[in-house]
Amino acid sequence: MSFASEIKSELLRIETKKKCCARAELCGLVCFGGAVLPGGKLRISTENAATARRGFSLVKDCFGISGEITTNNSRAGKGGNAYAIHIDAPGDALQILSGLGLLERHTVAFRVQSGLLDSSCCRRAFLRGAFLGGGSVTNPEKEYHLEFTTPRAGLAADTVALFADFDLTARVVQRKASQVIYFKNSTEIGDVLNIIGAHTAYMELMNVRILKETRNQVNRRVNCETANLDKAVDAAQSQVAAIRHLQKKGKLEGLSPALRETAELRLAYPEAPLSELGEMLHISKSGINHRMRKLMALAKE
Ligand SMILES: [Zn+2]
Repeated sequence: MSFASEIKSELLRIETKKKCCARAELCGLVCFGGAVLPGGKLRISTENAATARRGFSLVKDCFGISGEITTNNSRAGKGGNAYAIHIDAPGDALQILSGLGLLERHTVAFRVQSGLLDSSCCRRAFLRGAFLGGGSVTNPEKEYHLEFTTPRAGLAADTVALFADFDLTARVVQRKASQVIYFKNSTEIGDVLNIIGAHTAYMELMNVRILKETRNQVNRRVNCETANLDKAVDAAQSQVAAIRHLQKKGKLEGLSPALRETAELRLAYPEAPLSELGEMLHISKSGINHRMRKLMALAKE
């Protein structure tokens, strides 16, 4: 199961006991997944059978109206909206829209009505419904990305404002005809999951984040150690080259005994770290460094 479907099935296991929250969740679902068709019919579309059943129950519980669920088999499992709840009687549709605060002077406006979402519990429920109706999230192993899409610009602005109530800054970008409200940061995505009630998914996200961070730290350390090793090997090679140069010019014999033993030892152990050569000679690290610098300088002359 994808991370997104895991979240959705977790959300669908939440029991909305309070009437206010059931209505708010339905409002989120209708705003993000609903449409009014010619003739005043209301249709709520979703790609997920369980979400369709949830929408059906919410409509029934809040308004005592039974919609009809239909399946479009050709779209099932292909990411399209394979399921729909139909409320065909215009009177019923009107009752639902008006009850959800989606009517403004007899016209439908998919906007968040302030009166409906006064309590924090209801704002969370609305966002949960919104996620069920128009939300998706990328597998955090790949990328941190959570979004809500809607063609309704006003609704996108209202949703951003709702998140602002929770101290979250949602960004909005236009993608073709859609407004995409999104989060790109693992901390913010975690906050969104907690707000909508997906606490198990939140824990999973945090685990993935810790794993990724540990993996990055290990990689960084390995890269760093490899780089240091490469540098040490490069240095040893140029020391050998310098000493061979002195040898060719016949200058090794004229060196002080200290420099000579250092040069001979380097030629004998061309790949040994300088610190090891120092240990063999019973001199300090700075002592061997000093001698080697002197040899390099002589070779340059
Ligand atoms: Zn509530």
